[in-house]
Amino acid sequence: MQLHIEGTLTTQDNHRHISHNFVVPEGATKLDIDFEYAPNRTEKYGNLLTLSLFDPQTERGTGHRGQPKQHIMVSTAEASPGYLLGSLPAGTWDIMINSNLINDGPPVNYQFDIAIGFETQTEAKIWSRGTTLPRGEGWYRGDLHGHTIHSDGSWDVEGLVGFARQHQLDFVTLTDHNTISALPQMDSLSADGLLTMGGFELTTFYGHALALGIRQILDWRVRPNERTIAQIKGEIEALGGLFVIAHPMAPGDPVCTGCQWGYDDMMPGTAGVVEVWNEHWDSTSNNEESLQLWYGWLNQGHRLYATVGTDIHGTPDSTLEFGFNNVFAEALSEVAILKAIRQGHNYLSSGPKLAFSGTSTVGKTVMMGDHHDGQEKLVTVSWEACNVDDRVRLIVDRQVKEELVAETKGEHSWKVDEAHWCLVEVRDLKGNLRAVTNPIFIE
Ligand SMILES: [Zn+2]
Ligand SMILES: [Zn+2]
Repeated sequence: MQLHIEGTLTTQDNHRHISHNFVVPEGATKLDIDFEYAPNRTEKYGNLLTLSLFDPQTERGTGHRGQPKQHIMVSTAEASPGYLLGSLPAGTWDIMINSNLINDGPPVNYQFDIAIGFETQTEAKIWSRGTTLPRGEGWYRGDLHGHTIHSDGSWDVEGLVGFARQHQLDFVTLTDHNTISALPQMDSLSADGLLTMGGFELTTFYGHALALGIRQILDWRVRPNERTIAQIKGEIEALGGLFVIAHPMAPGDPVCTGCQWGYDDMMPGTAGVVEVWNEHWDSTSNNEESLQLWYGWLNQGHRLYATVGTDIHGTPDSTLEFGFNNVFAEALSEVAILKAIRQGHNYLSSGPKLAFSGTSTVGKTVMMGDHHDGQEKLVTVSWEACNVDDRVRLIVDRQVKEELVAETKGEHSWKVDEAHWCLVEVRDLKGNLRAVTNPIFIE
């Protein structure tokens, strides 16, 4: 059974979710959808149309990739990357175009050819969940942001996990754009000392956020006057997930569609965590601006914590130095890692090892992320594995209070009675960040 749909879009249709309904009869076992659009580019930038598929009850996946020819297959046994296999309920389905970017210029013509099959399919593959060796309270190093072919990455799940093993990480997280299709496979690859974690990258027209620690998709489409980012954040948290604003100061449209954080109602609003370091530090992701945005939010009295994410999409250039999260967690488990990140018990580093703490009057250690309740507000940082000429800086209320030459390792204490918050940065001679702690709050 064959169906054909066609249409035209102009720049007026930018940033829309455009439905195309079609009917799947009883007994169908397989759908093949061919999609084509032209022109793919105008003078400077590509037009970016991505697809989402809905059955009569639920979303069946998203392929966040903008190629001018796309093929989707969904059957009872298999599905194209980004989409979900399973039974094909009869009724009205929707193949939706997400118009991430339609440039000024000639209109974009598109067509769908849909084939519905009824042949018996093979059995679906079942992934069994992998397990790591149990480990208790301690420091764990890992990544919270990565992609595969299930959205716009160039490698499969094994590639991402291999990258984590190569960097001897304790945990690695799959966050494909608006899909959870690879999470069963990701969960199957937890083994020995490497914990695989998951969620998705909420990818909207006006900003990206990580939805960590959940295994179901929810309606990710922010719609003016209908569905807000705060509402979606609330739903992610109700499922036990963690919401992290991603790369807030990345360039936005048309360079990177939707990548810059543009939600006035969450600047930072109720957000508790922000990814201030995306990819490698001297990348085009405007990390310094993101870091300064966070410092500004802290100065406004918001208590929110920072993360780093490689946002890796495929085999990287081997000369790049990535930052990872160093998390003090109760155990090596997804729940414990995310709990620690919610509390700011985490520093971000591409190599230097840091300990940053205060001592309260009752002799209790105050760690990064915590409130310093001691009478004498003393904080101490010790560092190792720095480069000789790195600089260690104490930042108080956004200002550099003191800068020391690292000389690979050392220790220093400061009195910070007048401060609202303080943290420690390590920077190289060029000023690029090599590590930053989460803050200790003073008052
Ligand atoms: Zn993103
Ligand atoms: Zn990403």
